[in-house]
Amino acid sequence: MKDLPLQTKTALVTGARRGLGKAIALRLARSGADVVLNDIAAGQEECEGVAEEIRALGRKGLVATADVCAADQINEVMEKIVSECGRLDILVNNAGITRDMLLARMTEEQWDSVLNVNLKGTFLCTRAALKTMLKQRSGSIINIASVVGLMGNAGQANYAASKGGVIAFTKAVAKEVASRNIRVNAVAPGFIISPMTDKLSEEARRRLLCLIPLARLGKPEEVAEVVNFLAGDASAYITGQVVNVDGGMVM
Ligand code: NAP
Repeated sequence: MKDLPLQTKTALVTGARRGLGKAIALRLARSGADVVLNDIAAGQEECEGVAEEIRALGRKGLVATADVCAADQINEVMEKIVSECGRLDILVNNAGITRDMLLARMTEEQWDSVLNVNLKGTFLCTRAALKTMLKQRSGSIINIASVVGLMGNAGQANYAASKGGVIAFTKAVAKEVASRNIRVNAVAPGFIISPMTDKLSEEARRRLLCLIPLARLGKPEEVAEVVNFLAGDASAYITGQVVNVDGGMVM
């Protein structure tokens, strides 16, 4: 059988039960990676379904239920990965939530929950993964940000702050670990067909399409393709970058 680009690599994808996370997990598996699927407990059954699809591709597909905001749970996930797979080569920080509200009416709970999952979760998973990657002296970390973290969006001050934070975090950590052959990049999707964007009203959708030069929403697979590129050696000389996958919204 022809060698696949990610053969012998192990990847962890957070928030992988559906949407972008699921598409990314399947894409990495098709490139030959063994994939550990993380989500919160409510997503365990759907993760098992994705793991089954990965095993059908001939790769290892494991489920590691955990809340990315809980340091102890994330540390346990990393221990499980090292004991069952022996290594961790790729981390995709994909778990994310929105709690939209105009700022004047935004509660502290809405602010804290979004910053916790999107930014603190990225910090905790990255810190835990680096323990193994630093020993290996190799790794690729891909953080899923958003165009909203670059251009802002009314009603999403919490989400914009979290994703802008993810972008700044990406660059700082990229500088910190480059000498150990570990790369850290971000992908900033625009509006992608997903449960998150299914909630948009027809009016909101029409207004949105006017902002997208390619005049359509993106597909999860189109984001997964870029993550797959950043995960492997084809992007060996790229670190600290933000790749927009947004139909030209930000240019
Ligand atoms: P999604 O379908 O809601 O998937 C995100 C997954 O993360 C969900 O299964 C979610 O579970 C899980 N999750 C939430 N909190 C978690 C936690 N504390 N620990 C572990 N898992 C957790 O969203 P998506 O649209 O695929 O988005 C994936 C990523 O892309 C997010 O970071 C999002 O901000 C980013 N993004 C998406 C778009 C878009 O258009 N869809 C655009 C730009 C950026 P619950 O369902 O229980 O919350």
